[in-house]
Amino acid sequence: MADTNVFEDAVARVQRIGTSAGIRAETLAALRHPLATLTASLPVRMDDGSTRYFVGFRCRYNDVLGPTKGGIRYHPGVTIEEVQALALWMTVKCAVVGLPYGGGKGGVTVDPKQLSRLELERLSRSYMRAIADSVGPDIDIPAPDVYTNARIMGWMLNEYETIRREKTPGVITGKPVGLGGSLGRDEATGRGAFIVIQEFAKRRGLEPGKTRVAVQGFGNAGYHVARLLQRAGYPIVAVSDSQGAIYSENGFDIDSLYQHKQESRALSGVYCSGSVCELVDHERITNAELLELDVELLVPAALEGVIDANNADKIRAPCIAEVANGPITGDVDEALADAGKVVLPDVLTNAGGVTVSYFEWVQNRQGYPLTLDDVRQRLSDRLVAAFDDVWRIHESEEVSMRAAAYRVALRRIGAAIESQGTQEYFAGG
Ligand code: GLU
Repeated sequence: MADTNVFEDAVARVQRIGTSAGIRAETLAALRHPLATLTASLPVRMDDGSTRYFVGFRCRYNDVLGPTKGGIRYHPGVTIEEVQALALWMTVKCAVVGLPYGGGKGGVTVDPKQLSRLELERLSRSYMRAIADSVGPDIDIPAPDVYTNARIMGWMLNEYETIRREKTPGVITGKPVGLGGSLGRDEATGRGAFIVIQEFAKRRGLEPGKTRVAVQGFGNAGYHVARLLQRAGYPIVAVSDSQGAIYSENGFDIDSLYQHKQESRALSGVYCSGSVCELVDHERITNAELLELDVELLVPAALEGVIDANNADKIRAPCIAEVANGPITGDVDEALADAGKVVLPDVLTNAGGVTVSYFEWVQNRQGYPLTLDDVRQRLSDRLVAAFDDVWRIHESEEVSMRAAAYRVALRRIGAAIESQGTQEYFAGG
């Protein structure tokens, strides 16, 4: 899908679901536009001494439930529309899980693989300098997203604290544990998705051994969800990354694949040489073919818009767990539902990351770290409760899981807007 449509598509979905749920017009109007989006030019001194200018964005979409929260993405395809769509999805996501946050998102249009480590650090510091006036533990709290990680959050935190001349670890989450990061934050998105899939499997009586899975995207979230599913007995028959995809009827050993990728930096390294090739028979397929495989569970875990009007009718998996943000475009929601597909929506399925970010922020504010077991238990409690809320609406109001999740979120946001002051108040009601 063209980038320029991704934001309009995200807004249209909120309006469509909200209208059919009878959400007040005032709430829907509040979600039609972001609070503010900053566009910044980011000067970066390159290793050869020249200065290059990158473009970065930070969007604070809606803060009625609390400070805005959301990651920062480094990707050549980043646009203002994409960042705004992602910030709107964060607004819905935080409300679905009941976190005291609004939604935000940031991004830099850059191919981070083309930069040296020092250039990447200078870019990250330049980005933080650009947004420093509008972030803060009670204002807007960034975190990692596609192609950013704990190390990058550490550089940004250091830059922010240097500017402010005070320690404020709660300004950013997903940072290294040594700087106040939370144990279990790294695996949180994948683990959260695993919990949601398990809850769904219980309701539907899915047997792990008979549920073949294809995972599109082998980044942080894709890897962890694949690893946990495999450990629970699900055969992971296909995996892909930006270089291509591999298929094996008998399933892959995810940890060997991961190790291989770490060494070769790409799954493509797996195709030709090395231990994994000797371990399993695999076939090379394209990313498009992976999405259309005859499997029981499809897990898009990369970028948005991979299932759209061009391929929606070719998807054979009866269940799609959206681990990426926005992998399915809004215009095919209905067609997929009509075809009997169940979509476990991103705003619930990948909410584990921001949930553990919330735990990290709480730990920073209290100055009291949690154990890994404690983090995992709290994550599970939160997501099981959120799943139950969504499932209840899905069954009682007979709507898709996505519409049910949006209804949960829009009702919470609507109630908060009303509590802030209503026409009745001004009318003396
Ligand atoms: N980037 C993640 C997301 O899309 C995590 C955001 C956060 O932890 O604030 O949900």
